[in-house]
Amino acid sequence: MSIQIFGIQVSRGVAIGRAVLVASSRVDVAHYYISAEAVPREIERLRAARDAVARELQTLKAEMPPEAPHELAALLDVHLMLLHDETVIAATKHWVQERHYNAEWALSAQLEILARQFDEMEDAYLRERKADVEQVVERMLRQLAGTVPPPAGAGDGAAVAPPAGPMPGASLVVPPAVAVPAPAGPRDFAGEDPLVLVAADVAPADMLQFKRSVFTGFVTDVGGRTSHTAIVARSMDIPAVVGAREASRLIRQDDWVVIDGDMGVLVVNPPPIVLEEYRFRQRQSELERARLSRLRHTPAVTLDGAAVELLANIELPGDAGAALEAGAVGVGLFRTEFLFMNRGGALPDEDEQFEAYRSVVQAMQGLPVTIRTVDVGADKPLERSGDSRHDHGLNPALGLRAIRWSMAEPGMFRQQLRAMLRAAADGPVRILVPMVAHLNEIQAIREAVARARQQLDDAHRAHGAVQVGAMVEVPAAALMIDRLLGHFDFVSIGTNDLIQYTLAIDRADEAVSHLYDPWHPAILALLRQVIAAAASRGKPVSVCGEMAGDAAFTELLLSFGLRSFSMHPSCIAEIKQRVLRADTRQLQALQAAVLSADVPAEAARALLSGAR
Ligand code: PEP
Ligand code: MG
Repeated sequence: MSIQIFGIQVSRGVAIGRAVLVASSRVDVAHYYISAEAVPREIERLRAARDAVARELQTLKAEMPPEAPHELAALLDVHLMLLHDETVIAATKHWVQERHYNAEWALSAQLEILARQFDEMEDAYLRERKADVEQVVERMLRQLAGTVPPPAGAGDGAAVAPPAGPMPGASLVVPPAVAVPAPAGPRDFAGEDPLVLVAADVAPADMLQFKRSVFTGFVTDVGGRTSHTAIVARSMDIPAVVGAREASRLIRQDDWVVIDGDMGVLVVNPPPIVLEEYRFRQRQSELERARLSRLRHTPAVTLDGAAVELLANIELPGDAGAALEAGAVGVGLFRTEFLFMNRGGALPDEDEQFEAYRSVVQAMQGLPVTIRTVDVGADKPLERSGDSRHDHGLNPALGLRAIRWSMAEPGMFRQQLRAMLRAAADGPVRILVPMVAHLNEIQAIREAVARARQQLDDAHRAHGAVQVGAMVEVPAAALMIDRLLGHFDFVSIGTNDLIQYTLAIDRADEAVSHLYDPWHPAILALLRQVIAAAASRGKPVSVCGEMAGDAAFTELLLSFGLRSFSMHPSCIAEIKQRVLRADTRQLQALQAAVLSADVPAEAARALLSGAR
């Protein structure tokens, strides 16, 4: 049966694929395709894991002290029985044989199906048996983790291993060489179908690991348009919908799903005629992208000659290539916190950070690179640190986040600043500090930079000149913009948080996402005020929140005097097209109409569609 599910659109375009359901707790399971020849070996891995777990359970049972409750032994028997149950093992083999999933993926795919069947059971006792199946599967997954096949080429080349690297549990990623399913010879096996990921929730750090994944689209039950999970999904430039509430319950493993990233709609098991329509739209949007990409190297200058700087937001050093490729004239926001995640609690040291920052500076070939000091906390917790100080507070968005976290970790902060100053020896670097709101922070930041530089001098280490800027993303900072400008070399407006904190709307909470309104008059007034203040002092100002990459705001922001926009590389071409068609001399009427309107979005739409 075909159903429609409504969510929040995150990134444009249409994706059509089979659903892969992933439970949040099992995100660390490696998902990759194996070649046809590797099937027997993968099944052997499954069998060996099952036998090892059976031995483990039998040993546990044999060593059970006599005083242990007899229910425990009975439970182990249930687990042993499940291990040999056809619905677990035989069905798992089916995923390996028919779809060429690796053993871990096959096992977790089957677990999702079983878990759903248990959830639907009337009998409470039987429903609770779901936990037993989960435990048995978790044991098998642990066993499998110890028997990861060698990388392709190292052995018989039959299997393709998840990539090695510092991240534990190479989650859901595949080496670029197998970013598309491996060919299966003459038989048209179902593994060639594109796949879309469906999950209740995916943490931003886990989302990041999908960058090189097999998935062509994403759906999550929770999240708002500017949650960091959505931001990372958008940076991958594939269709995604968040806040789709019941999606992970309504969609079943292997269902066909259309993700309409333009409208925020999912169509599950669409009838052929609907599918055909979406395939048509998919082709149209690919053509449009190809057309826009021709603007890549055209300078962004308005019709009346105003030069506009279009910069890139990046999450990892490897994104610099995409930034250049998209025609960015620099990096306007490098979210360094992603270097701190997925590391089992170990933080990157100064040298590792230096290498990461330098690689971006070098890749950008003399173009400016704005590196933001770490912005952990809120929806980007360092949750694997095991450090209770950094656990979620009652209100994490208002808690120990961004510069507050850095201030609480002065050693770590200086280490990061030293790494940035060292990278500045190789090219232009701007240091950007998130969430500045207090005057004492300004003083402390300047002192920390001076101290870091002094430490480098003492150690005879090369370092370069930097500009130091503040993010304007807390209303307090916007309201005291003149003071801020007196102390910083530049400012960058983080509209994602500015909206969150001004309107008191959690940006990651889909329940209030309808109130998260970039068109709110208070937001527009703050933006105009900050941009005007910077212009009158001759200080550079940029917008690096999602509004910068949203074409609906380009003309309005230009009318406020903004000449620097930083966004996902995939947005640059569209924004450039708007800039090329704009005439700043004619935008004052737009500004006046929008600022005085009760519904500013409508006023902007009416005027802009009339102008086109
Ligand atoms: C912002 O808040 O607008 C911003 C760019 O920073 P982040 O989205 O990483 O919080
Ligand atoms: Mg922010």
